[in-house]
Amino acid sequence: MINVTKTSMPPMEEYIKEIAELWDSCWISNMGMKHSELEKKLEEHLNAPRVSLFANGHFALEAALRAFELEGEVITTPFTFASTTHAIVRSGLKPVFCDIREDNYTIDADKIEALITPDTTAIVPVHVYGNICEVEKIEALARKYNLKVIYDAAHAFGEKLNGRGVAGFGDASMFSFHATKVFNTVEGGAVAYSDSSLDGRMKCLKDFGISFGGKDILECAGNGKMSEFHAAMGLCNLRHIDEYITARQSVAKRYIDNLSAVKGIKIWQEQEGVEHNYSYFPVLFEGSRDEVCERLLKEGICARKYFYPLTNDLKCYDFDSAKTPIAKHISDHILCLPLYPDLSFDDVDRICRIISE
Ligand SMILES: *Cc1c(COP(=O)(O)O)cnc(C)c1O
Repeated sequence: MINVTKTSMPPMEEYIKEIAELWDSCWISNMGMKHSELEKKLEEHLNAPRVSLFANGHFALEAALRAFELEGEVITTPFTFASTTHAIVRSGLKPVFCDIREDNYTIDADKIEALITPDTTAIVPVHVYGNICEVEKIEALARKYNLKVIYDAAHAFGEKLNGRGVAGFGDASMFSFHATKVFNTVEGGAVAYSDSSLDGRMKCLKDFGISFGGKDILECAGNGKMSEFHAAMGLCNLRHIDEYITARQSVAKRYIDNLSAVKGIKIWQEQEGVEHNYSYFPVLFEGSRDEVCERLLKEGICARKYFYPLTNDLKCYDFDSAKTPIAKHISDHILCLPLYPDLSFDDVDRICRIISE
């Protein structure tokens, strides 16, 4: 069975060496040595002024929304994983869905302004598939209307636009380090941000609202701490991240070489000026995506319909996906092909042959 992704594992000996110290210290959670080491290494790697680790990306996104004390309406995209919309709703905010661009599937910045009301307090765009949003247009709108911008950068780990790390855009960015992502800590995530006055708040929000120093409980918050074992996995994987991304790049290139001339499909394209991480390989079908998906599955290949259904079509909500017709169309016709560092060229060629047929 070929899955859409496969978790990147560091050499086992390396991990064992990394965690051996934890037996000496007996300090295995609550922001220990590995935790602070990983935060520091990620600040360097992501070129981010500050990185705060969390137990997972979803919790990190909720913490980011809460840190800015937002109220009212948040403009966002429905073409994403459920987590983005859930985080907004669970934070007591109202998501207002903006349609997406046909070329790279990110939020269409030209359609945001018409959705802004006196109740709008933030924009939550997603660098979907690692395609980077129109960050300059979004920043201009945020400045004009005094809105916060919190990026869901779960797919954009380590990416750069014109030499600048994605973590530097907006007021904050959330990264996911889930096992299925380009960089993993098994489960985990982080918020990258620049405002140093939020340092205490970030810590408080992941640790039951306990103040810096532990004297007071300042707010009602949950437990979103990353353990030392997870941080250790992150330290190991971070040493190998360049290998992972280079290997992913050659798989993506193989897909591009094989599929460029195939009629009736639109394949993923590099964006100009972007250093990509090759996290996903989406293909848009003119005809029936479902038929291709089933055929691949019969051959033991599990492609995935990311992102279907749209989050404004989820059963748990009562939103109207007719208001985002482009997102609706893309969601009904897109398929993400398997992509991971050691996917063999033979397998890529086989997947491409089936698609061509
Ligand atoms: C994976 C993902 C998340 C959630 O991250 P977890 O670490 O799994 O909690 C949020 N948004 C997007 C777009 C994702 O792909």
